[in-house]
Amino acid sequence: MSASPTRVLVLNSGSSSVKYQLLDMRDESRLATGLVERIGERTSRVEHTLLTGAEPETRTREGRVADHDEALDAVAAELSRDGLGLDSPELLAVGHRIVHGGRLFDGPTRVDWHVEREIERLVPVAPLHNPAGLAGIRTARRLNPSLPQVAVFDTAFHAHMPEAASRYALDTAVAEAHRIRRYGAHGTSHAYVSRATAELLGRPYEETNTIVLHLGNGASAAAVRGGRSVDTSMGLTPLEGLVMGTRSGDIDPAVVFHLMRNASMSAEDVDVLLNKKSGLYGLCGDNDMREITRRADEGDRTARLAFDVYVHRLRKYIGAYTAVLGRVDALVFTAGVGENSALVRAAAVEGLTGFGLAVDPERNAVREKRPRVISPEGTPVTVAVVPTDEELEIARQTYGLLGEGGDRG
Ligand code: AMP
Repeated sequence: MSASPTRVLVLNSGSSSVKYQLLDMRDESRLATGLVERIGERTSRVEHTLLTGAEPETRTREGRVADHDEALDAVAAELSRDGLGLDSPELLAVGHRIVHGGRLFDGPTRVDWHVEREIERLVPVAPLHNPAGLAGIRTARRLNPSLPQVAVFDTAFHAHMPEAASRYALDTAVAEAHRIRRYGAHGTSHAYVSRATAELLGRPYEETNTIVLHLGNGASAAAVRGGRSVDTSMGLTPLEGLVMGTRSGDIDPAVVFHLMRNASMSAEDVDVLLNKKSGLYGLCGDNDMREITRRADEGDRTARLAFDVYVHRLRKYIGAYTAVLGRVDALVFTAGVGENSALVRAAAVEGLTGFGLAVDPERNAVREKRPRVISPEGTPVTVAVVPTDEELEIARQTYGLLGEGGDRG
């Protein structure tokens, strides 16, 4: 009898890119990783790295990849060249990152026609992302119809937020007719990081209260009580909340109709303005925190202001989620900015000793790819940096559902 399959292929299909990782869940090792970027543009790029040898082996090629269908063909071809194709008997399943799962999905879900139809029905609230996820599911099925597929939703971790946090104060009939509520996002990351933080603290996850700050190009905060998300800063879509690379985050909704009435902008124009031309980029012309802090250091006042607006919003959410949780055990930073910018971390908690928050300058300056505490010994709230790993979390959830000990969907 052959051994049960233990490998999971994780696909993260974005609006113009597909990232992938092949993992062996016996030891959670990575066998291959890669990326197809600039899908639909004239020069797309495929980068594939094989990790099974003594040294990583990377192959890259450029050329047009017209759509997600072709992108997945390219991924499958690269994996096949290394004997790791979608028809390999060791492959248990494909785990897909799906951005929007609405209210229906609160955990990893084996994909069938019903699940696919629901993901499709949610396209209006995730117009850039859900179609990409669907394309990933359909192409993987075309390449190997009998391979199980699992959807891991970015919204799932927030699916049971209390109504008081998930409802907008809108006319109930309108909200219900159009499924308008706060769904949140980045849930896979918030789940992974909050659990890893409890492990770092040596506390049971069920008894740990954490504020997670996922600060990447997209950014969100989550209040996690005993392993459950009780509030998060993103809402109906990932536009609400913190200041992000190119998204405004919280804004008076009247700005939208003010612009439509007085600046001859269409709904589409305002959508592009708030999602693509605002945030750090809108404030100072750069969306990369490295560039912004460098410019601010050189005395650039616009960059300084962008940094200050970013940090001010962050501090407001730290205060708000302290109140939501009542007792906070840990405040944790993750993703590109959170893991790398000691300046942002220091500014976010500066002067908050009244909240039990402080950062030790030496610990904060350490650069390491491991979870670590950056608050001084003995402070009431542990401040930590925990690198996120959404792909590993998707693989774990997929394996948990279908692998040894799982219920096979
Ligand atoms: P992510 O979306 O998690 O990949 O984060 C991407 C963002 O992280 C970039 O746009 C940068 O703003 C930020 N970032 C990456 N490295 C650094 C760094 N060393 N210092 C400050 N910010 C960084």
